[in-house]
Amino acid sequence: MSSDLTELYQQVILDHNRRPRNRGKLPQANRVAQGDNPSCGDQCKVYLNVIDDRIADIAFEGSGCAISQASTSLMTTQLKGKTQAEAEALYKQFHEIVTTGKEPEEISDVAAFAGVHAFPARIKCATLGWHAALNALKNGATTATTESHKD
Ligand code: ZN
Repeated sequence: MSSDLTELYQQVILDHNRRPRNRGKLPQANRVAQGDNPSCGDQCKVYLNVIDDRIADIAFEGSGCAISQASTSLMTTQLKGKTQAEAEALYKQFHEIVTTGKEPEEISDVAAFAGVHAFPARIKCATLGWHAALNALKNGATTATTESHKD
């Protein structure tokens, strides 16, 4: 990765931290799940409004490190409007990026997290919000904890 791109990707993470997208409660939510990453102290709560298997709206509340908050913010922008199957495919792609550092062919904001793979402890930070969102989709309302996931 060129240094210009590295800088761009850092900007993406910083920008999501400064101006989190879809942050706050979602009054019309019909699915809610919490995420908890005790190893870093990150927490998040993801609200979904699912209509006909599609995420009509999504929001989150949370606190924790920059990686966790930025990735959760980015996750909401990625999953809005998606079906459960599409959301799972996007998570799979994101998970591969953060665990292998392999970037997608197209330049996209999710590639900002490729650098995380060099810091295995931070992978849990980056995937926390995604776990919570997928748990909300599958189960309705549960607490996602990174401790029960190998990644
Ligand atoms: Zn963290």
